[in-house]
Amino acid sequence: MPRDTETFRELYRQEHVPAGYRGGRHALFTFGLGGAVLATALVQLEAVQPVEWLAVPLTFLYANLAEYWGHRGPMHHLRRGLRLVYERHTKQHHRFFTHESMELDGPRDLRAVLFPPVLVVFFLAAFMIPVGLLLAWVATPNVAWLYIATSLAYFLNYEFLHAAYHLPPSHPVARLPLVGRLRRLHTTHHDPRLMASCNFNITYPIGDLLFGTLRR
Ligand SMILES: [Zn+2]
Ligand SMILES: [Zn+2]
Repeated sequence: MPRDTETFRELYRQEHVPAGYRGGRHALFTFGLGGAVLATALVQLEAVQPVEWLAVPLTFLYANLAEYWGHRGPMHHLRRGLRLVYERHTKQHHRFFTHESMELDGPRDLRAVLFPPVLVVFFLAAFMIPVGLLLAWVATPNVAWLYIATSLAYFLNYEFLHAAYHLPPSHPVARLPLVGRLRRLHTTHHDPRLMASCNFNITYPIGDLLFGTLRR
C-alpha cells in the first residue's frame, strides 16, 4: 500500500471513526431499515395492473441516472449545500481507497464505504417521500409503492455492490462473476487521475454507456 494512503487511513480512523463504531451494526442499520421500508412498500400493493408494473423499469433507469449524475456532479465537484457529500466522497473515500489499495482492512473501515445513517435518513425523507406522494396523486398508490420499493432495492444493491468492491478479492462475495467485472470498472474509477472523468456508475454502467464515460 502506498505510504500516503496508509497515513491517510490512520488519520481518517482517528478523526472520523468513533471508538464505539461497529461496521456490522452500520450495515445492519442500512439493510435493516431499508429492508423494513421495502417490505412495507411491497405489502401495500393491491391488484397491480400491467401498466403499473412499468414503474419498476422506469424507476430503475431513473435511479441509475441519478447515481450517475450524483457521482459525476456533487460527489466529485463541490456544490453549494452538498459539501458533506463532496468531502465524504472525493476527500475521504477516494483517498482511503485508490486503484492500488482497494481493500478495507477490517469491518471498522466500512465507515469509509457505506452512506452514513444520517444521509440514509435524509435521502429517504428528501427524495422518497415527496416523490412517492406526488406519484400517488398524479398516478396511483400502486405506482408510488412500486417506486419506493424499486428505489430502495436499488439503493441496497448499490451499498452491497460498493462494499463488495472494497472487500479482499479472495472474499466469496468479491468472487461472484458479475461483482468481479463491476469491481474492475470501479477500480479504474479509483485511479486519482481518472476519478473525475470515467466510470461514474457504481452499479450497472448504463449512464456511462449513454454518456460515453465508460472505461474498461
Ligand atoms: Zn469506492
Ligand atoms: Zn468517485
